[in-house]
Amino acid sequence: MGSSAVGVEFTHGGSNYFVRAKKEVILSAGAFNTPQLLMLSGIGPGNHLQDLGIEVIQDLEVGSTLRDNPTFYGVAFQTNYTEPIEPLENYIEQYFQGVGPLAIPGNNQGVGFYESSYTRGTGIPDLEFMFIPAVASTILQQRAFRLTDQTYNDVYRFQDVGSTFGVYVIVLHSKSVGTVRLRSRDPFQFPLIDANFLSDPENKDINVLYEGVQLLMQMAQTRAFRSMDATLAGGQLSACSQYEFLSREYWYCAIRQLTINVYHPLGTCPMGRDPREGAVVDSELKVFGIKKLRVADSSVFPFALAGHPTAPSVMVGEQMGDILKEKYKYNDNYYDVLHDYF
Ligand SMILES: Cc1cc2nc3c(=O)[nH]c(=O)nc-3n(C[C@H](O)[C@H](O)[C@H](O)COP(=O)(O)OP(=O)(O)OC[C@H]3O[C@@H](n4cnc5c(N)ncnc54)[C@H](O)[C@@H]3O)c2cc1C
Repeated sequence: MGSSAVGVEFTHGGSNYFVRAKKEVILSAGAFNTPQLLMLSGIGPGNHLQDLGIEVIQDLEVGSTLRDNPTFYGVAFQTNYTEPIEPLENYIEQYFQGVGPLAIPGNNQGVGFYESSYTRGTGIPDLEFMFIPAVASTILQQRAFRLTDQTYNDVYRFQDVGSTFGVYVIVLHSKSVGTVRLRSRDPFQFPLIDANFLSDPENKDINVLYEGVQLLMQMAQTRAFRSMDATLAGGQLSACSQYEFLSREYWYCAIRQLTINVYHPLGTCPMGRDPREGAVVDSELKVFGIKKLRVADSSVFPFALAGHPTAPSVMVGEQMGDILKEKYKYNDNYYDVLHDYF
């Protein structure tokens, strides 16, 4: 027969509530919390749930394939151009006009997509650059990336904010796979997240990042870069001092030190044909083995994407909407939908 989702339990204002679903439960809590909620509900890797004393309702590889885009934050260029710093009020005014540095997420002022030697000629880039004026040299960056004082001092501290730009080197379609696991049975505890970056057995991810660094070194020789005297900023990482500065070995070491996520987690409840091969949802976003339960968010992507995940996540939601409208014969009249529910 199989189990069936019947509703949702939640807490609000200090009280617990249970809402019974008339039709289905649709989970959209994102790549970390969707697997957390499934596992708390007994849907996940059997051994892991048993270790925590959770009854296994459905043994599925929930949270076993966390993917992101590993990003190397260790390249910045010093230039002879200094970005004029304006008063904050100006930036706020510009923001409301939809322009200026505050209107650009992460102050990311340029993006480039490239094919590494793995994908050359395919038309499918696996390398992205993001050009970020100034950001790589702030204390905020140190805190956000939890850099040690030593690493911060080695690479970022002496950069002049106004005249430096960083370039983030990003692997698309990355191969490394991490996990999301429960810390405990307590729904208020954050889950355990292990990105497990640069762990793919064939080292493709780190090789692609190294190719990206080399491409940047070539860019540094172009007329555009030379016109502003762009030279590599920052010194040698102490953690990699056993290698010749800027040698291949040095960069591989630096990449392992300074590769962090780019906030694109996905893939923790992957769509696929066969749960025995790790799939958690089918092509209609239904959780295998559980009736009346679907997932509609970035968890369902079966592989790391070639771009940024917001738009594809919205597309999953749109697809979910179409599936439900078709199944329950809703039309586009909002009031009909409301009428059906109340
Ligand atoms: C700092 C940052 C910068 C980013 N920049 C970009 C970018 O520039 N471009 C891009 O394409 N993508 C970007 N992303 C990624 C993008 O935000 C995500 O890929 C996208 O939001 C995923 O959508 P989702 O629906 O899967 O999850 P989410 O958007 O995370 O939605 C999940 C929702 O579920 C809620 N929720 C979670 N747990 C519970 C619970 N237990 N009970 C009730 N509600 C719950 C959350 O509050 C949230 O509202 C960025 C992400 C971050 C963090």
